[in-house]
This record gives sequence, C-alpha cells and structure tokens, in this order.
Amino acid sequence: MGYVDLHLHTTASDGVMSPSEIVRYAKAKGLQAIAITDHDTIEGLEEGLSEGKRIGFEVIPGIEISAGHSPGSMHLLGFFLDIYHPLLNERLGYLQKARAERNPKIAEKLNQLGVDLTFDEVLKVSGGGQVGRPHFAQVLLDKGYVRSFQEAFERFLKKGAPAYVDKFRFTAKEALHFISEARGIAVLAHPNTLGMSRYSELENLLLQLVEEGLRGLEVYYPEHSASEVAQYKTLAERYGLLMTGGTDYHGIEKNGLDIGVGRGTMRIPYSIVEDLKAARSRSF
Ligand code: AMP
Ligand code: ZN
Ligand code: FE
Ligand code: FE
Repeated sequence: MGYVDLHLHTTASDGVMSPSEIVRYAKAKGLQAIAITDHDTIEGLEEGLSEGKRIGFEVIPGIEISAGHSPGSMHLLGFFLDIYHPLLNERLGYLQKARAERNPKIAEKLNQLGVDLTFDEVLKVSGGGQVGRPHFAQVLLDKGYVRSFQEAFERFLKKGAPAYVDKFRFTAKEALHFISEARGIAVLAHPNTLGMSRYSELENLLLQLVEEGLRGLEVYYPEHSASEVAQYKTLAERYGLLMTGGTDYHGIEKNGLDIGVGRGTMRIPYSIVEDLKAARSRSF
C-alpha cells in the first residue's frame, strides 16, 4: 500500500502550486492520494479533482477552517466534503467577505509603519486566489523590508504585531456543524498550535469538540515532536478518533519541507484514507 498527504495548500489560498500542479507533483512523487485543504476556501477543488481524474490520481476534497480560539490557534480540517453543499458555500462566502474587508487594512497599517507597499502588489503575488498574510510576507521579503518569511510575521503580521488586523472566525462548534452538514469528516489540525499547556486542558477541549462533531486528530505533522505524536495517539485511541497526517506543504515558507515526507521522515499510509471513507459511510 502507498503513502498519502492529507494536508496541502494551493494557489487557491496561500500555497504556490496551482491545484493541477500539486496533483501532478504528488503523483510524480509516488504518492497514492492527497487531500487539498486550502484555508477557508474550496475554490481549488474543482480543478484539483478534475486533474486527478484526468491523470488517474486520487484527490480528496478538503478544507482547513480557522476557528475562534485562544490562547493559540485552532484549525479544523474537513475531508470528503460535498463541495456543492449550499450551507458550506454560504458559510465560506461569509469568510471571504471578512477576509476581503481585513486585507486592505493590513496594507494601510503597513503604510502607516513606513512600509512602501500597495494592496495591488499583494494581489499580484497572490496570483488571483484568496489573499492571506503569507502574501504580505512575500511582498515584504521581495521589497527587502525583511530577510525571511518568519521575520515578516514576527515584526509585522503575527497576532500582536503592529500590522496585525483581526478577522471574523466561526466558533469551533459552528465550523464543525457546517463541515458535517456538507458530509465532511472533521479533524483537528496540528493540535500543538492550540497553546494548551497542560494535557488535561487539551483533553477537556477535545471532549468538547467530540461532542460537537469532531471525528479525528491530525496526529502526524512535521512540527509535532515524538512525544506530542505519542500523546495525540493516546488521546485519539481513548476517544475513538481517526488519526490523520499531512505536511501542510505550501511550497514557500518552510525550507526543506516536501509533500508526502515532510522533512524526510513522514510516511502516512493509505489505510488512513480507507478509515476516513469507512467513517463517512457509517455516518451518512
Ligand atoms: P491568514 O489566514 O491570512 O490570517 O494567514 C494565516 C496563514 O499565515 C497561516 O495559515 C500560515 O500559513 C501563515 N502564518 C501564520 N502565522 C505565521 C508565522 N508566525 N510564521 C509563518 N507563517 C505564518
Ligand atoms: Zn497557510
Ligand atoms: Fe493550519
Ligand atoms: Fe494548513
């Protein structure tokens, strides 16, 4: 059985490869299936799915929703979504609007800080897909205001930094609801970004999310330490959650990270896709 990557970004959000390109790249790398999981949008999925069909490669329609959470950040993945579901499309439309309102404000703040940048330049870098902070980081880098992506976030763009502008987020409960309504299997992405300092805190949060429709945990992830992986596995087993994995490949900001293998050691077996499919056919 082959290997898969269930967390990937394309130009529909803040990745650098188009959906077709990433599908061809995954096949060329010898993977057996991928999920395209762009932030807050399914705009890349029609193209990705049809390219998969064309070249004979399995593409799972997915998404990654940023949900309201503190102190860290909570991202929820949805797999096997019905991309034409009206509620899903209505909710995502709302997020697009919130983003479109936020983005020019980031440009304004940067201008006030003395950065010579126009929103048009950011649009150009985004290549026509949804605009996100990584595109601002790219322009800051191109114009020599920072020496790295990380520096752009640290100095300007991250929460609490001077050019940060908040945007509307659905609660986890709301996001889990519309993912499930669209027949998606909801999975908590990279639990190590939640900012939960104690195991019991994470466990309580998980219990709550499971009640609200969570079906799995992203256990395998390049930024998870071995002890985090072990911890998430234990929790997944305890609460009957599926264990997924993916690289979160964007193609820009993370040097040395590649699709399928992460920094070299990740191997996500195809059996996880079968588990997701079985879960989906049990519930719908
Ligand atoms: P947005 O959805 O436009 O607010 O942008 C969020 C995206 O920016 C995340 O999904 C990451 O890809 C990227 N990002 C957020 N924080 C950082 C950071 N500290 N360093 C690098 N990339 C980041
Ligand atoms: Zn991203
Ligand atoms: Fe994420
Ligand atoms: Fe991601």
